[in-house]
Amino acid sequence: MPQVQTVAGPVDTAELGGVLMHEHVFVLTPDVQQNFPEEWGSEEERVADAVTKLQALAATGVGTIVDPTVIGLGRYIPRIQRIAEQVDLNIVVATGCYTYEDVPFFFHHRGPALDAALGTSVPDPMVDMFVRDITDGIAGTGVRAAFLKCAIDRPGLTRGVERVMRAVAQAHHRTDVPITVHTHPGSRQGLEVQRVFAEEGVDPRRVVLGHSGDTTDVDHLTELADAGFVLGMDRFGINLDTTFEARADTVVELCRRGYAESMVLSQDAACYIDWVDPFVMEMLTQWRYTHIHEEVLPYLREHGVTDEQIETMLVRNPRRYFDG
Ligand SMILES: [Zn+2]
Repeated sequence: MPQVQTVAGPVDTAELGGVLMHEHVFVLTPDVQQNFPEEWGSEEERVADAVTKLQALAATGVGTIVDPTVIGLGRYIPRIQRIAEQVDLNIVVATGCYTYEDVPFFFHHRGPALDAALGTSVPDPMVDMFVRDITDGIAGTGVRAAFLKCAIDRPGLTRGVERVMRAVAQAHHRTDVPITVHTHPGSRQGLEVQRVFAEEGVDPRRVVLGHSGDTTDVDHLTELADAGFVLGMDRFGINLDTTFEARADTVVELCRRGYAESMVLSQDAACYIDWVDPFVMEMLTQWRYTHIHEEVLPYLREHGVTDEQIETMLVRNPRRYFDG
């Protein structure tokens, strides 16, 4: 029976239930938080708030959230463990590195950055760090990462982005866990992911192209789906440069064209994200964990998406992604 590692230990993939494939619990900037903690408030309040919000999500029938919070997004697993103990949800966590441009300074003078100085090819320490998170557990917590995460955004395949992407590919080959890539579909960065992962021998069926739902270019998305990639329609509720209808209609059209097996659904929400001013958060009233079940699914059904297709996007596709 294939299993996936969660914060509370291994779970049969058949028991994951409905899965939201890209939700954060927290997105934080730790050195800002440690020095300017006023907005964060107290640890106890934040944990209690997270438990309340995640329990509301569990009440909609969702069984699992997949949390791609890695280096660069403030991952801190002991806090997630406290929360996981108090909610009726599986929480699946990740390893990897999130950057749109350069690698974090920690890596600037390590690994391949030393190649020229040493006149030899130096292995990237990121690879062993990612593998250790997956095989031994994260920072002594015993919690094992179940997937890998990297990013590419509008700046494209910068040296730092490429270094992380190739490290993720190598860690994938050593562990066989799947991958989620933050992409920017408006500038067609999925094609760069396709090129690098083809060179690295990564099977696109093990890769979610996150934020695919940020575009309404259905022809571009079907091209990536035809290559085997899983499309993350995973920012429902972030209606800043787009609308609820634009996001939902893209899923409707992809379902109509027979692509339900290529999509997963999520919201990229968080209990607390310090990247966004609280007044903006108040404007984004649909950016919450329960938006898909309360508003998106009813809309999809009204527009011809079948229960079978919804089950495929929420249950079968995530299970297949982790089954390998
Ligand atoms: Zn995210």
